[in-house]
Amino acid sequence: MSEKRIIEVKCKCGQALARYEKNKRGKLIKMYLERIIKDRAGVFLNKDRQINEIIRCPKCQQRVASVVYIHGMKSAKLNQGQIMPIRT
Ligand SMILES: [Zn+2]
Repeated sequence: MSEKRIIEVKCKCGQALARYEKNKRGKLIKMYLERIIKDRAGVFLNKDRQINEIIRCPKCQQRVASVVYIHGMKSAKLNQGQIMPIRT
């Protein structure tokens, strides 16, 4: 059976951030940008994000992620204190 799950990532303020295909079980730590199915708030894929760039929630302006390379792929490392906890 596949471990793949489609999940909804939300800011703690309630703003929907992304629909994402998660491959492994466990806590959501980061999202590979290329696996974001829907950029619900237009903050992840709306422009060419640079490494270390901070991504903020458009509603509450809190930092929800920063951009890093993981396994050579541009990813959003999530700010655990600011997103709704997700565990699969
Ligand atoms: Zn927010």
